[in-house]
Amino acid sequence: MTNYDALIVGAGYAGAVAARRLAEDGNKKVLVLERRDHVGGNAYDCLDASGILIHQYGPHIFHTNDRRVFDYLSRFTKWRRYQHRVIANLPRDNPQVVPPRKTTDGRFFFPVPFNLDSLKNAFGQKEGERLGQKLLDAYPAQSQVTILELRQNPDPEITAIADYVYEHVFVHYTMKQWGQTPEEIDPATTARVPVRLSRDDRYFQDAYQGMPLEGYTPMFERMLDHPNITVELNTDALKRLELADGELRLDGEAFGGPVVYTGQADELFGFRFGPLPYRTLDFGFETLPQDYFQTHGTVNYTVDGDFTRITEFKHLTGQVKPGATTIMREYSRAYTGKDGEIPYYAVINPDNNALYAKYKALADRYPSLRFLGRLAEYKYYNMDAIVAKALALTDTLL
Ligand code: FAD
Ligand code: UDP
Repeated sequence: MTNYDALIVGAGYAGAVAARRLAEDGNKKVLVLERRDHVGGNAYDCLDASGILIHQYGPHIFHTNDRRVFDYLSRFTKWRRYQHRVIANLPRDNPQVVPPRKTTDGRFFFPVPFNLDSLKNAFGQKEGERLGQKLLDAYPAQSQVTILELRQNPDPEITAIADYVYEHVFVHYTMKQWGQTPEEIDPATTARVPVRLSRDDRYFQDAYQGMPLEGYTPMFERMLDHPNITVELNTDALKRLELADGELRLDGEAFGGPVVYTGQADELFGFRFGPLPYRTLDFGFETLPQDYFQTHGTVNYTVDGDFTRITEFKHLTGQVKPGATTIMREYSRAYTGKDGEIPYYAVINPDNNALYAKYKALADRYPSLRFLGRLAEYKYYNMDAIVAKALALTDTLL
């Protein structure tokens, strides 16, 4: 007989929050199985060879409007105040315009999300102001509008602005990230980065924003540090867990407690209906012998280049380390399922959602099996959304 009351597959946000709640508030003995050699899932951070704190699986900035989520995580970390700001770096294609921001090497910059200041950088001070007024006559001040909505505006001058933003912010970046145009992908994806009718140049506008003061990994370690929790790293749960005839077995024995599964839905069922499409990323890390490489935490290459963005971690973490900085370029491509590849982004569209629904229907035949997280739910969730889902799910289990 197993000694555990609950099994959690995966030690990312979904798994770690679920484990802690069941262990602490439910007084259950919880076993967490994690395939990687560390906790934290894709939010994992660590020091690189030069002692710089990096995010191994892409830049993670915490932001939420959900007070319960913020309070819950705040039990396990203090926060460094940080508001993420992003600029686009792109070739100058309008030499008549004198941008207010410094340009270098025939390139120029503007804030992303595209806002009233971005307009001035793109079109020059006077024309930018005039076009900004045009937008403010059409939409409420401080509001935001998605690029796909803006392109529907019947006023030809607003359509021209929309076309500019589409061409200089969205179409090439989206092709690099998804291999498809903004019209072809889920509209909620480009809606994450709307056009702003304000001068707010923060990437996120949430009430609570910041970075875990000592990093994400210590926050996860504290969350999982509980006498009722056992974490086994380097362990593929699919080698231990069997699903047969409505029954779940762990290490060959029937397991009656809840099983919170945060891995891929298709993999759990041997890809029997075919693989769910994902995008994966290749990360190009580079450590440079200088204090800083760029002015902002992240710079998006919205028009050219084969990578989408460059992140410089010292801006995010606030780490003081003179004479060395680590940057990372992100290259996106289709996930093939080869060993070592990680499925980072679900490719959300009606066909893929229908395929996912077939796996979900299989899972629903096992009443004690719960799908939770970005992989298991095949959704584009931010960290806070996963924490909220994990709190809600464990509310029902407790
Ligand atoms: P994951 O972090 O993927 O954790 C799942 C875990 O399950 C993994 O550790 C995996 O190894 C393990 N696992 C899977 N299958 C098995 C198995 N069979 N056996 C054992 N273990 C298994 N969100 C934000 O809020 N802000 C950001 O700035 C942000 N930036 C991001 C940047 C990138 C490049 C990416 C890809 C995502 C970003 N996110 C960001 C989203 C964030 O990463 C996710 O919301 C969060 O990590 C999801 O947590 P999760 O537990 O669902 O999944
Ligand atoms: N996007 C874009 N240009 C940008 C930033 C974002 O076209 O400069 C689009 C792109 O399709 C991207 C989506 O908006 O995938 C969401 O961007 P976000 O920065 O939220 O992506 P994430 O950080 O989750 O990869």
